[in-house]
Amino acid sequence: MPLLHVTAVHPVTPHVVRVRFTGDGLDDFPTWPDQQLKLLIPRPGHPVPDLPADRHDKYGMAWYQAYQAIPAPERPRLRSYTVRAHHPDTRSIDIDFALHADAGPATRWAASARPGDTLGRYGPSAVYRTPLRAADRLLFAGDETAIPAIATHLAALPRGTRATAFIEVRDTAEQQPLDTAAELDLHWVHRGPVPPGHGTGLLDAVRTTPFPNGKAHAWVAGEAATVRALRRHLIDHAGLDKRQIDFTGYWRLALAQDDPPTEEDLAEARERVAD
Ligand SMILES: Cc1cc2nc3c(=O)[nH]c(=O)nc-3n(C[C@H](O)[C@H](O)[C@H](O)COP(=O)(O)OP(=O)(O)OC[C@H]3O[C@@H](n4cnc5c(N)ncnc54)[C@H](O)[C@@H]3O)c2cc1C
Repeated sequence: MPLLHVTAVHPVTPHVVRVRFTGDGLDDFPTWPDQQLKLLIPRPGHPVPDLPADRHDKYGMAWYQAYQAIPAPERPRLRSYTVRAHHPDTRSIDIDFALHADAGPATRWAASARPGDTLGRYGPSAVYRTPLRAADRLLFAGDETAIPAIATHLAALPRGTRATAFIEVRDTAEQQPLDTAAELDLHWVHRGPVPPGHGTGLLDAVRTTPFPNGKAHAWVAGEAATVRALRRHLIDHAGLDKRQIDFTGYWRLALAQDDPPTEEDLAEARERVAD
């Protein structure tokens, strides 16, 4: 499992920090939009994370068993992030970290990251590659944690594609430029000082914007309960079939990423398998 070394850190907005990494394996790094990585964040007092032994299997789960075999006090914390940009010329990648107030290990790490700091990396794995399906119109909805995925999807869309995006952020200062050749109808939804995941702004914005007729495909990510409500709305009121929606709960209110699944998480997982 390769290490990632920080080479630069700079703010993108007041609450998003971009960290540039170099490391083994970034010269022939495969790229596609919405590339998910697992970051292994070292425990306090461990400048370099204790990494699981490299193991490969058909389902990509052997590494996880090796990870869990690391004694708990040394085991790095595992968090999912998205590659915001890949720079083959400098063999580096950028990851954008949303800095939330209820900070867990990843946010604390990112808030104080400095050149020379080190993380572990698992991925990207083609198992998690989910290309968008062909559609007359694409719909993206998410909060600031989904901006890297939405931005890389938008950047890859060919000219002539029609896309609508709803992105919830705190305020204008948190908006980011998004490059695309698509015909993009972009809605920034401002939640104001309400903490992320507590308001209904994103859902209300999607609900109250008429959805054009035609074959649509929706991509939704962000706080898990909001994602579930958006998906329900798209199925029950916007006429989308389950198979026309990619949805991922990126984070859960009051729960860390490594807390066990809730009943809702399990129900969602069962529904995915049934689809
Ligand atoms: C596939 C995937 C890709 C992702 N890509 C990105 C990305 O590119 N950039 C990014 O910033 N995030 C991304 N996320 C979300 C990120 O992994 C979570 O926000 C993660 O929980 C942050 O870890 P943490 O250690 O800071 O907090 P945790 O220890 O997981 O949680 C601690 C507390 O913080 C709260 N919390 C977690 N995230 C947020 C948040 N965003 N806002 C407010 N409260 C929060 C939790 O409810 C909990 O109470 C992605 C998630 C997934 C599954």
